[in-house]
Formats: sequence, structure tokens, C-alpha cells
Amino acid sequence: MKLEDVKRLDQQDKLHSYKEEFHCDSNTYYMDGNSLGLLSKRSEQTLLTSLEDWKQFGIEGWTDGKQPWYYMSEKLGEMTSPLIGAKPEEVINTGSITTNLHQLLATFYKPSGKRNKIIADALNFPSDIYAIKSQLELHGLHPTEHLIQVKSTDQYTLSEEDIIAAMDEEVALLLLPSVLYRSGQLLDIERITKAAHSHNIVVGFDLAHSIGALPHKLNEWGVDFAVWCTYKYLNSGPGGVGGLFVHEKHLGRKPGLAGWFSSSKDKQFDMEHDLTHAQTAGAFQIGTPHILSSAPLLGSLEIFQEAGINEIRKKSLQLTRCLMDLISEKLATYNLKIVNPTEDHRRGGHISLVHPEAASLCKALKQQGVIPDFRAPNVIRLAPVALYVSFEDVYNVVLILKDILDNDKQKSFSNERGTIA
Ligand SMILES: *Cc1c(COP(=O)(O)O)cnc(C)c1O
Repeated sequence: MKLEDVKRLDQQDKLHSYKEEFHCDSNTYYMDGNSLGLLSKRSEQTLLTSLEDWKQFGIEGWTDGKQPWYYMSEKLGEMTSPLIGAKPEEVINTGSITTNLHQLLATFYKPSGKRNKIIADALNFPSDIYAIKSQLELHGLHPTEHLIQVKSTDQYTLSEEDIIAAMDEEVALLLLPSVLYRSGQLLDIERITKAAHSHNIVVGFDLAHSIGALPHKLNEWGVDFAVWCTYKYLNSGPGGVGGLFVHEKHLGRKPGLAGWFSSSKDKQFDMEHDLTHAQTAGAFQIGTPHILSSAPLLGSLEIFQEAGINEIRKKSLQLTRCLMDLISEKLATYNLKIVNPTEDHRRGGHISLVHPEAASLCKALKQQGVIPDFRAPNVIRLAPVALYVSFEDVYNVVLILKDILDNDKQKSFSNERGTIA
């Protein structure tokens, strides 16, 4: 593949102009949008509007501001729903992945008799596993006995067969990532959900690495609940408020962890001690929404509405394909292994490379203006985000990596991770 080939891909790219919507430093290639997405000008504006509402309206900003705070979580839920194939009332913007998991495990994990186990996997992000273990302990159960972690045979990917084989009448709930954070493997959500339901197992998915990167059909697939963060592919900013989905068949259910924001909105200010919870996913909120950490998402989701998640997925697949092809073509002589699944229907928005000097390679890349992402002990993740990475950027990133490897530039850095990796 030559420079003119990638330039042609950029000319044909319908999303090319969205790059200008983002604050992109022209001297860097940002390949870490799967950890923290970049700031868009629209997000900056919606955050400033919420500050302006506070300035102008004080307490009245809850109902009378330009972006009324009292309804913002519901509005964001509605705007998020097309990205995951949900109905507006099934989605709410609230909490973080981990707090939302606590909420939904408290709501949906009801061990009874022999049916008391939880299926997860051995590759998931630690926080999800910590939440499951603490919920088991709150029920007086033990992770060693009641948590089944489906193993990987290659350290990077999971097999749907192994997951399905772990299901039986002793399992109450299953929680898996849609896309694995390390290898970028996309699981077959529909197939897993169908199999779990045939065993009467409640199904939850963590969409951290798929929301904003690819489309979902959560309502149609019958997934019981889902959680996600918004600071990765959804570009809501550091600590941006997350979200959750509860399937319509469960709406009306009492929240496991209640608070005054679980209220039906017209009853909330009656200040009664008996909660009348909302009949929407809003019931799974707890306290006052974090408005200044929600407002940037208003601007960001407008971009997703306009660009369309199917277009975004189409370009993302082309970008990751282009990146893999260039790596195979130009870096074949080096000890770099692509460990993400290579088929389109099995990979998410990033590619994952293994190298014994992964940590020092990441430092060398940063020195050359490429922002990658390192995961201990030896994984380099590269996320060419469709909204603000071009095909030419991908080409240049591979040339920079080639130059580092050709000249052993990584040798001048220690092969250890920094504080944040
Ligand atoms: C990013 C990520 C998290 C982070 O959880 P927060 O509570 O939002 O900090 C959790 N789980 C997975 C799978 C992630 O990728």
C-alpha cells in the first residue's frame, strides 16, 4: 500500500470532514481514543452552555436553562438509544460502569436455592470482576465457589462455545464485555444471549469498548441489561458520566439501590419517604446527576446522530483493516504479533499488538508524536477512531513505528509501564 492509496481512501471518506470538529493537535497522531476520546468543539460548547445556565439562572437552571439539568440524563439516554438499538425509555445517562454494575447486580442478581452462580470471563477489566465479587460477598457467597470465570486458551480471546458450555441450572446471571478491552475481540452478543436465556440466565453486557464504535441491537437481541462509559469512543471527557440500559421487559422493576433520583420525576419533590420509582431506566439512577460531567456528551452525541453509527463502523473497519495490512506489509520482519481477531465480525475498534518491548515501544512512539496505549505486560493497542483519524494518519503511524524498529529507538527507554498505562 502506498501513500497515494491512502490519500485516495481519504478522498472517498464520507466522514473525513468530522476531523475538523475535534481539537486535534496537528503534530500528533492520536491512537488512544479507546481510552479517552478527544474533545470536540460541540462538546466544549455544550459544557460552556451549562456553565452559562448556572451563571444566569442559579437554581432555576434545573428547569429553565438552555439545557435544563433536571431532564438532562433522560435526554442523553434518548440520544444514546440509537447507538445501541434501544428504546429511549430503556436508557439513562448516569454513574460510571462500576457503579452502574453495582446497581444492576443489586437489581438483577437474585441468588435462590442452587441457582446462585455468576458467569464472567478471565479476561475482563478488573473493575467488573471486583464489582461481581463484592456483590457475591454481600449475599454471603464466595467468589471461589460462585464466580465462574470462563478461561481463554490463547490469553487474548474467548470462545463462545466455552461460554455456552459453562451455562447450567446453577447459574443466575452472566456478565461479559461486548468487546474485550485488551484484544479487541467482539463477542457474538446475540448468540450468547439466546443460549443464556434458554437456561433462564439473566444477561448483562459491558459495552465500554463497543459503544460509539459499532452498532448494537440490544432490544431485539433481548439483552437484559448493559452498562458503558462515555469517555472512550463517545468523547465525553475525563470522568464523563456513563450510562445503562435495562430491557423494556424489566422496566417497572424496583431498583436494587434506590435514591431520590430513582423517583418518578413528577413525584420526586413530594419528598415522601416511600419511593415511587420511575417506570423507565431512570429508576436506576441514585443521586443528583453530575451535570458538568454530562453536558459535554450533549454536543458529542449530536455528532454521532449526524454521522450515523453504521457509517462510523464502516470506516472503523476499513481503518483497522488498513492498519493491519500495513503492519503485515511493512513490519513483517519484526517480532510484532497481531492478537485481535482479524475477521470483520469479530473485532471492535482497536487493534492489539504484542511485542516483548511493548512498553518501551510505546514510549518511543510518544516521543515521535504517536499516542498509543499500553496494557501490561506486552500489549500495544492502537485505535484509529473513525471520527478523527484519517487513512493517511494510519499510514504515517506505521512508518513511524517502522523507523523506531529499524533503528532500535525503543532501546533508549525502559521497558516498564508509567503510572497511567
Ligand atoms: C473502561 C472500563 C471500565 C471503567 O469503569 P469506570 O467505572 O467507568 O471507571 C470498566 N470496565 C471495562 C470493561 C472498561 O473497559
